Amino acid sequence: MLIDAKELENGHVVEADICIVGAGAAGIPMGLALNGSNKKVVILESGGLGYDKRTQSLYDGFNVGRETYPLGRNRLRYFGGTTGHWAGHCRPFDAFDFSKRDWIPHSGWPITIDELEPYLEQTQPILGLGKYDYDSLPEYAEQLGLDLLPLQSDRLINVMKHQSPPTRFGPVYQPVLEKSENVSVYLHSNVLELSANESASHVTSAEVAVIDGPRYKVKAKKFVLATGGLENVRLLLLSNKSASNGLGNSHNLVGRYYTDHILVRPALDISLTRSDQNFGMYFGSHEINGGRVFAILTASEALTRREELTRFRFHLYNTSPKYGNAIGGIFSGVDGAVEAAPLNRERGNSLSVHMAMEPIPNPDAFVRLSDKRDFLGQQKIEVNWQVSDDEKANVHRAIEICALEFARMGYGRAYAPTMGKRDEWPGTFTSGKHHCGATRMSDSPKTGVVDRNCRVFDVDNLYITGSSVFPTISHTNPTLNLIALALRLADHLKEKTA
Ligand SMILES: Cc1cc2nc3c(=O)[nH]c(=O)nc-3n(C[C@H](O)[C@H](O)[C@H](O)COP(=O)(O)OP(=O)(O)OC[C@H]3O[C@@H](n4cnc5c(N)ncnc54)[C@H](O)[C@@H]3O)c2cc1C
Repeated sequence: MLIDAKELENGHVVEADICIVGAGAAGIPMGLALNGSNKKVVILESGGLGYDKRTQSLYDGFNVGRETYPLGRNRLRYFGGTTGHWAGHCRPFDAFDFSKRDWIPHSGWPITIDELEPYLEQTQPILGLGKYDYDSLPEYAEQLGLDLLPLQSDRLINVMKHQSPPTRFGPVYQPVLEKSENVSVYLHSNVLELSANESASHVTSAEVAVIDGPRYKVKAKKFVLATGGLENVRLLLLSNKSASNGLGNSHNLVGRYYTDHILVRPALDISLTRSDQNFGMYFGSHEINGGRVFAILTASEALTRREELTRFRFHLYNTSPKYGNAIGGIFSGVDGAVEAAPLNRERGNSLSVHMAMEPIPNPDAFVRLSDKRDFLGQQKIEVNWQVSDDEKANVHRAIEICALEFARMGYGRAYAPTMGKRDEWPGTFTSGKHHCGATRMSDSPKTGVVDRNCRVFDVDNLYITGSSVFPTISHTNPTLNLIALALRLADHLKEKTA
């Protein structure tokens, strides 16, 4: 059922078994998973069915660290959330991503891929993806009649990504939730804070404001925050009546370890000196087995371990070289692999290589409340995204590895704007708009905010879902993985909510 909260009386009280805050990529799949169960589920969504400027402005905040996208524009605040403008690239984390990597401080998840795998498979149809298969890239390429690069497999490898249409969760899942008898979505419902008992160990209600409308509350046995990687933090910190520094924050960890992918776009230009390679598998996406797929490059586990790097990936695009004649085959011959050749600047004869790098968890990067308020009286957030010299060194090395691999294969000559400037960040670097890490999952309340079941350590009935619980974030896009965690949480709550 969809309910417009503008129609409710001031002071109204809704009762439920499970209250989910946020109807985006994480909240809607939880609603779908709980649909038809014997639980009374309420989903509270700030927005209506479409974009509204005033509601969206509740997302405004301040970047106080490394400059990144404006906080009011890099996410969407209405039914369906940021899936209203996401790009739909999907790939699950690898088993390796969950392990503790000795060279990466604060790495290691308390769960393994095995615990997520069944839910990853269930996520495929939700995202409009085909058969759950990320391992058969060579077979797929053969069926499609497309080539894969002959990479040196202990360095770079070809891997598969799936392409969502991209599914816009609002319009796609509105009909099923509208018909649901046990899941009610309350639109125009801005959760201002969660009220808790005196010891801040149990949430009693969500306090809700409708713009120019009533204030009401929702009482439930269990509460789930699914408001995105930044707002999950904001709501915990705003819920500060029983615990002065916010719910779940007795170790001062809420908001810390905030992180995002480091993107370099472009990282490299490859001027192709041969015409016998078909790069189609890397460009656009291709229909096969009920979905669409394409290929990217990533570092092998062997190389990642050998060089003690974080994970990284490269997307190839078919473009004219950006750096023109300045390039001069800078990387060619470094491995003695490529003859110098004149640049060929025709479209189709060059590749633009974009990179995404996994960051190193950093407790000093944060999301916190500022002293400025939005028009509902709520403190806005400050986001301090940081990047370190170690990450810069990783970025330079990854670019170099990719350039050398192209040189070795003999397809062309590579130019990176970063060459010879290892002390500098590439001018083309930015963040991924993937807000992660600031309510991280851990085995101990001393090192994380939520436990292996996504429950806030200090609070017996409060859960968090979304990329804010990721302790490390691999190179891949977050959404498929965060939905799998949301479905796992839905199963857990079905069992645990009497
Ligand atoms: C331009 C762009 C492209 C992207 N492309 C990709 C991609 O290709 N692949 C990928 O994996 N990821 C991509 N992402 C990231 C992806 O969109 C997010 O990972 C995903 O949407 C996060 O899901 P979420 O449910 O945590 O947050 P959201 O989808 O943002 O949903 C949060 C919901 O909570 C609601 N809400 C917030 N605060 C409150 C409150 N106080 N009370 C009530 N409701 C509230 C919001 O209105 C919203 O509906 C992209 C992001 C952007 C910005």
